[in-house]
Amino acid sequence: MRVLEGKNVIITGGSRGIGKGIAQVFAEHGANVAFTYSSSEIPALELEKELLDKGVKAKAYKSNAASFEESEKLVAQVLEDFGGIDVLINNAGITKDNLLMRMREEDFDQVIQTNLKSVFNMTKAVQRTFLKQRKGSIINMSSVVGVKGNAGQANYAASKAGMIGFTKSVALELGSRNIRCNAIAPGFIETEMTGKLDEKVVQSWRDGIPLKRGGSPEDITNACLFFASDLSAYVTGQVLNVDGGMLT
Ligand code: NAP
Repeated sequence: MRVLEGKNVIITGGSRGIGKGIAQVFAEHGANVAFTYSSSEIPALELEKELLDKGVKAKAYKSNAASFEESEKLVAQVLEDFGGIDVLINNAGITKDNLLMRMREEDFDQVIQTNLKSVFNMTKAVQRTFLKQRKGSIINMSSVVGVKGNAGQANYAASKAGMIGFTKSVALELGSRNIRCNAIAPGFIETEMTGKLDEKVVQSWRDGIPLKRGGSPEDITNACLFFASDLSAYVTGQVLNVDGGMLT
């Protein structure tokens, strides 16, 4: 069953990792995919071609999710290119880890701007379209770290916790217009973001997970399929932990 046939989706940060996995599977489910990147132009253009080969509309856009103006321009361009938007996935994110003692002000600000302010920028930009059509699904990529905290990630954890508060507030504000807003809290997912970690640290993470493995982008994609499609038509304001049982 192709659960997203003909739906238009915007994914921020689709060039790599989890966002790329979402773009690939969504296209297989019949979705037209607009996705952004920040600097990885070649992988983004390769993905655009791969998606077009699946017979859906697809386009890569270079757009900084941390910029309010660029987000507004992006959404206007996607509306022109695709003719509508049904689903927004706020996935773009970065880390600038350090103990609080050593964390620089710019590392705090950059992580908040890219991970949290971006969610405000993009949600504001699609809001008018979703209100007009009285339908829309917004999915925010939070993290288990936003639920439980993590030493060395005060900036990242604050951004991801902020996304949860934002998600619940938007769900309350826009529910009466049939606009749903949910968050996913991935656990330890093996992508380039976590590839920066020492192998010993990675193994200790895996050992501590009840399912005894790191997650894959596909694990997160399946949760996104649920929230993006009508399978979750009566679900809003939720945070789904996709973490192999880490928070249990
Ligand atoms: P990743 O492999 O590092 O990919 C990050 C993506 O975000 C890339 O496509 C990157 O584009 C894009 N990006 C970064 N800054 C951007 C900006 N300012 N504007 C637009 N795009 C930007 O990360 P990932 O592991 O797939 O993570 C995806 C999301 O899941 C993030 O929000 C992350 O916090 C969250 N998450 C990940 C894990 C995990 O274990 N991996 C766990 C919990 C939550 P470029 O390629 O151009 O740089």
